[in-house]
Amino acid sequence: MFNPEGIRAELDQIREAGLYKNERTLTTPQSAQIATSTLVAEGEGAPLWSADGAAESLNFCANNYLGLANDPRIVQAAHEALDRWGFGMSSVRFICGTQGQHRDLEREIAEYVGTDDAILFSSCYDANGGIFEVLLSAEDAVISDELNHASLIDGIRLCKAKRFRYRNANMEDLRAQLTAAKEAGSRRMLIVTDGVFSMDGSYAPLDEICDLADEFGAMVMVDDSHATGFVGPQGRGTPHLFGVADRVDVITSTLGKALGGASGGFVAAHQEIVDLARQRARTYLFSNAVAPAVVAGSRKALELARDSEAGREQLAANSALFRSLMAEAGFDLLPGTHPITAVMFPGDEGAVLATQIADAMLKRGVYVIAFSFPVVPRGKARIRVQLSAAHSEADVRACVNAFVAARAEVQG
Ligand SMILES: *Cc1c(COP(=O)(O)O)cnc(C)c1O
Repeated sequence: MFNPEGIRAELDQIREAGLYKNERTLTTPQSAQIATSTLVAEGEGAPLWSADGAAESLNFCANNYLGLANDPRIVQAAHEALDRWGFGMSSVRFICGTQGQHRDLEREIAEYVGTDDAILFSSCYDANGGIFEVLLSAEDAVISDELNHASLIDGIRLCKAKRFRYRNANMEDLRAQLTAAKEAGSRRMLIVTDGVFSMDGSYAPLDEICDLADEFGAMVMVDDSHATGFVGPQGRGTPHLFGVADRVDVITSTLGKALGGASGGFVAAHQEIVDLARQRARTYLFSNAVAPAVVAGSRKALELARDSEAGREQLAANSALFRSLMAEAGFDLLPGTHPITAVMFPGDEGAVLATQIADAMLKRGVYVIAFSFPVVPRGKARIRVQLSAAHSEADVRACVNAFVAARAEVQG
């Protein structure tokens, strides 16, 4: 029998801690310009919506790095696939859920990121959820960066390997953890890191990581979700940026960010690893095939991303302009070049301040999101701004102006 008391108490705790997430609802497609509203109440009758802020907002918090999320060429490819290939697969891949285009997309992904082969999953969350158990058993060790994405943490939990964690991008500590893993008598060792850390916009030092891997005989796995499509030459990702594409053994990434932003993820790796994943990865074997329209749209997105030199240049220019104008205006930014830009509000007051500034900015037609504990460490609250190639120079300037005006308004 369902007893709501305990669950209500838990919900109240979340609210009291100020951590309750109210989902803003877009009343438009995903884009650099959106309109939003908030679901205020559900229940009897029609849901109650309140329009937020300006009628139109500039969106600075999507992972829409190349502006492909609503690209008409991708929409058209998906439309055509809907007619040609139907709506759903109603099957996992190994029973009757593989169309030619699923394999085409896998080969195209592998070619792009520079591996032997690739295998699709419903999401990168599922790719990370399934791959560790395929590669590692109790005699093995996984050595993981402390800032790795939740899906890597969960995937590691699902395997029996010994776990070692190193301080973020800290090569001295990685060496210490590799030493400990080796001394523990580990058979296979796998170093795993995000290519780009999503809350900081910083890069993992893949060249140094690969050097240490060689020294210790470890394998290297990179989750490149915040890089595939726009980081490195032709957007082929962080292993290419660092010149170590031939030394990284496993790449996981998403189709849900720069590559059209629909859904789906993949593991790209040596042939043997992909082949074994197809036999053993539970999140692959026991979950439905990616929908035909999403496969076709993602293939088009990959093609567009590969050729989108102008998009990558615009994205880099927008990121550089934003960082320099914000520094000039006296904001505290984490250093870097990635389109993820963390605007820091340190200290005890930071969490409230960041939230108030983000709210004041939405009223001025600029949508950004504040993050505080437990998403980021205590005392390190921030507004994470994400630039897109779909932003114009005027959009970037409008965002900076909104930051300046909101800060003046909130701080009095
Ligand atoms: C977004 C993200 C994921 C999850 O990708 P989905 O395809 O949305 O499941 C996994 N890892 C990292 C590093 C991410 O940023």
